[in-house]
Amino acid sequence: MIASDTERSHRRHSPFYEPKIQTLPREQLTQLQWQRLLRQWQRIWDTPIPFFKRKLERAGVTRGDLRSLSDLSLLPATTKGELRDSEAEHPPFGDYRGAPPERAVRLGASTGTSGRPTFILWTPKDLEVDYRASFRARWRWGIRPGMCLANAHPFGINAGGWHFSHGIEGLGILNVPSGPPGSEEEIRDVLEVWRRLRPDTYRLFGNVATRFVEVAEAYGLDPARDLNLTLPGDHPREQYAMVSSGLEALPLLGSACEERDGAHVAEDLAIVEVVNSETGRLCGHNERGNLVVTVLEKDNFLFRYDLEDIVRWNERPCPCGETHRRLFYEGRARDIVKVEGKALLPIDVALVLYEFPEISTPSAEYQILRPSPPLQSLHIQVECPSSLDTVTLAERLSERFRACHGIDTTWSFVPRGVVPRFAYKATRVVDVPAAQLAAK
Ligand SMILES: [Zn+2]
Repeated sequence: MIASDTERSHRRHSPFYEPKIQTLPREQLTQLQWQRLLRQWQRIWDTPIPFFKRKLERAGVTRGDLRSLSDLSLLPATTKGELRDSEAEHPPFGDYRGAPPERAVRLGASTGTSGRPTFILWTPKDLEVDYRASFRARWRWGIRPGMCLANAHPFGINAGGWHFSHGIEGLGILNVPSGPPGSEEEIRDVLEVWRRLRPDTYRLFGNVATRFVEVAEAYGLDPARDLNLTLPGDHPREQYAMVSSGLEALPLLGSACEERDGAHVAEDLAIVEVVNSETGRLCGHNERGNLVVTVLEKDNFLFRYDLEDIVRWNERPCPCGETHRRLFYEGRARDIVKVEGKALLPIDVALVLYEFPEISTPSAEYQILRPSPPLQSLHIQVECPSSLDTVTLAERLSERFRACHGIDTTWSFVPRGVVPRFAYKATRVVDVPAAQLAAK
């Protein structure tokens, strides 16, 4: 769905890419969700979609059990493990697809970090839905047709590079898909392109941007002057600018508006629930829970799919005027570390570290060591300049952590450059035997 020139010029001065739908009164929005949900529900039973129909029937659910939007949360959620089993039993694509696989035009795969990767298929219509949501997301960031954007997304089978690039190009932006930093020579070639173009804006991740800047400076370039590149803040709060979940739902989960207080979800295209994984109940404003998504307008849709990510709602009306609710992305469910009955995520650690500029400038590089079996204190390894008094630093960090989270922490400090760097998403939680930590 590529916007025409006329459409673009109409929109150019609006804060919204699709003003009407993005500012639809809540009542009308939920009515629209209900109509669209019902359509997907009927497809499960009529097409039928064997996996979902079987799953619902096994849970004793019948077609008549979905009578209103609020009934949705009573129905069983779908896990990645179930999709994986379906693909194993009905190779290669499983029997949960809403459209025949031969209608698909693109394939992606999940990362496989929690088991065998599952496949994602897009029909042309599915791509249109994703791009439409992407256009809204980029528009919120002030990106407009005619601009030039350089991005360093990886283009692998499980990365969002293709999706991101098409979502940029369809909006009428000059996209410069530069790829993650490779060898020094490759980086130099990319820097030369950037120097000639001076892109209006960049989309780089924390470590990626740092690497490009380091090499640029080593070659005598001033990144701000010569490349129009300033290091994007890699403060952990930047994580809240968009919801970086699985590609099955990513574009629909939107981006933050200028209020920067959570990412506006495309609620006309997906029903998002935040669910307490232990009780199954829906979480309210500001309460952390699992991200569960029902995709509305796609051929290949997922019904109550638990993306194994942790999010929380900002349910306050947004001053920007957009009526679709906002979501904070907190991290991956598998990165939860439990200490003394509390469930912590890397962002909890990062937010404390960034209160200490002496270890978070230009970036805080850390890993949480997750012992098995669990210990009574949270073990954190963090890079620290050799000039610092680590005994005092550990005391101050521990005190601050106790004040914020009510738990004990144990710190180990390592020289700058020791914690592994990642081109895409950093691994912040490392599993270790408890005996290894107890010996420290
Ligand atoms: Zn807003």
